[in-house]
Amino acid sequence: MADQKKMFINGEWVQAENGETLEVINPATGECVGVVSYGDGRDAAKAVEAASEAFKSWSKLTARERSKYLYNLYELVRNHRDELAGIISAEMGKPLREAKGEVLGAADNFMWYAEEAKRVYGETIPSSVPNKRIMVIRQPVGVVAAITPWNFPVNMVARKIAPALAAGCTVVLKPAESTPLSAIRLFELIEQAGFPKGVANLVVGKPELVGQEFIDNPKVRKIAFTGSTRVGKLLMEGVAKHVKRVSLELGGHAPFIVFDDANLDAAVEGLFESKFRTSGQMCICTNRLYVHESILESFSNKLVERLKKTKVGDGRHKDTEIGPLINENGLNKVLEHIQDAKAKGGRILYGGNRLTEGDLGKGFFIEPTVIVDVTPEMKISYEETFGPVVPIIPFEDEASVVAMANDSNYGLAAYVYTENNSRCLRMAESLEYGIVGINDGAPTQTQAPFGGFKESGIGREGGYYAMEEFLETKFVSFGI
Ligand code: ADP
Repeated sequence: MADQKKMFINGEWVQAENGETLEVINPATGECVGVVSYGDGRDAAKAVEAASEAFKSWSKLTARERSKYLYNLYELVRNHRDELAGIISAEMGKPLREAKGEVLGAADNFMWYAEEAKRVYGETIPSSVPNKRIMVIRQPVGVVAAITPWNFPVNMVARKIAPALAAGCTVVLKPAESTPLSAIRLFELIEQAGFPKGVANLVVGKPELVGQEFIDNPKVRKIAFTGSTRVGKLLMEGVAKHVKRVSLELGGHAPFIVFDDANLDAAVEGLFESKFRTSGQMCICTNRLYVHESILESFSNKLVERLKKTKVGDGRHKDTEIGPLINENGLNKVLEHIQDAKAKGGRILYGGNRLTEGDLGKGFFIEPTVIVDVTPEMKISYEETFGPVVPIIPFEDEASVVAMANDSNYGLAAYVYTENNSRCLRMAESLEYGIVGINDGAPTQTQAPFGGFKESGIGREGGYYAMEEFLETKFVSFGI
């Protein structure tokens, strides 16, 4: 059995107080790829204490000094790209090519916020009275507790801790229990980058207990979370009684709209990116595909042709385009959505089954799937599927597709393919979504705001917007 991996608290690698461990399973093979120390609220409390002590000096460093550490980390992450990508692929299954892209995205975050740290500007405001001056300064909020999911086990961490550290906050991270190994390797690089002890802490532990400690511990001033809407609501309810700050990146149910004047080849590739990357397990994944009725057949045929050429398999194999789902629960949920659609009159145009041949039988693989004759009563029409399944819904005109697209509790990402510029603008403005990809199936960049409307969340990651999440605004009134 692999060596037991520990947590990083106050600059030291330590075991959980409870002495418990957890196995990490490769979803492509069912094999154990690591064993981690698996703690609870007590470890979280120690980490918060360390972060709170470290905050006193970290927040007082000059921005340039903080920036240097982040820049070191950027270089280390970039130089360990292949190793980190291998760990991601082994613990969560995504293809190596995607995993490498993810690591570069994480490195880019550390570089971006190394720069952004230097630009936390304040303001002076003209006073209404002659003997007073108004000054506005920005200060770090304090200790940040970050909770991250398994679908981007390195970049979700980077997107939270990079701006938090840049702003002068200290952090305690709780990664997802299915993917702690890449977070542990990232924290080894954080140690190597020379950050002072206690500035960045890692606790791998039972979600409810660690989460409760983050909620109740008065030294935690902010929770930054990415995950399900269910858990996001629990955290928001929990922190309400202490009025802590919270930012939430939650679920989505993205519409992908293809108009009759779209470049269909580009739309198929865009759809592939937005639907099948990470095996359909991204919060910005397409969940409903709306195709203009006049091109329904030609577009569906092109999509099926693309899927016939798609290789499903172990993410560590070079030609794999779609890996496994994260675990049995994930697989069962996707199969349930397919069954539910079939029971309510949906027709499978392609795929629809678990893959069990040969080695695939050991993992949680499913065929990329296309469903037609879809109705609003089907779960797939309103619940997040989190798998490589695309339901196709025809539409008649712009107004009706906007109404259908906006008819959701979610509001994270939406996609539109059309060559009509006026329509591009109209659609961008009408869709009630935080991110709109116009002729773009992969709308994420470090410097752009990422976040949702409605039940998809609160706050934004990315660019300067993320800095705001970790800063307080202070008004200083000078009598002179
Ligand atoms: P998913 O269904 O995609 O796994 P979750 O919301 O369950 O999404 O998980 C996202 C992150 O939230 C993970 O790190 C998980 O451990 C954590 N988590 C799950 N339940 C809780 C909870 N009650 N309190 C705090 N964190 C939680």
